[in-house]
Amino acid sequence: MSNSVKAILDAKGRDVVTAGPNTTVSEAAVILSKKKIGAIVIVGMEDKISGIFTERDVVHAIAKAGAACLDQPVASLMTAKVYRCHEDSTVNDLMGLMTSRRFRHVPVETNGKLAGIISIGDVVKTRIAEVELEAEQIKAYIAG
Ligand code: AMP
Repeated sequence: MSNSVKAILDAKGRDVVTAGPNTTVSEAAVILSKKKIGAIVIVGMEDKISGIFTERDVVHAIAKAGAACLDQPVASLMTAKVYRCHEDSTVNDLMGLMTSRRFRHVPVETNGKLAGIISIGDVVKTRIAEVELEAEQIKAYIAG
């Protein structure tokens, strides 16, 4: 039985660090560093998701354009096709998505609006708790 995204958000909260599309790469790097996070969701009007910009995109931008990228807006470097999930998605769904698409962040959307974010760290933490619980249940079953 796999936990739901709702259960993860209930425990960790629904705050998401966002920025507008005109934020520069250098400003985005400051946000990522200060907040100790790996991704910023780029939002347009009414908090609609318009892209995602992660630490990996900073690395790609520097590799491609050098220090000149630091003044560019994230809009030109973010990933615009963002894979999202819903509160009723499961940890198993997210493990599959993150593994097959090779990314570590999935924004949560409710009624078309940003409602949280799940990182690979959240997924691993939840999966470990699930496996430990399963092991305890099997031990109790065998002992009983
Ligand atoms: P990450 O592993 O999350 O740092 O992201 C690796 C690459 O995938 C970066 O280019 C991100 O912009 C992109 N990316 C991250 N999360 C998503 C997502 N949910 N949907 C689409 N692309 C993403």
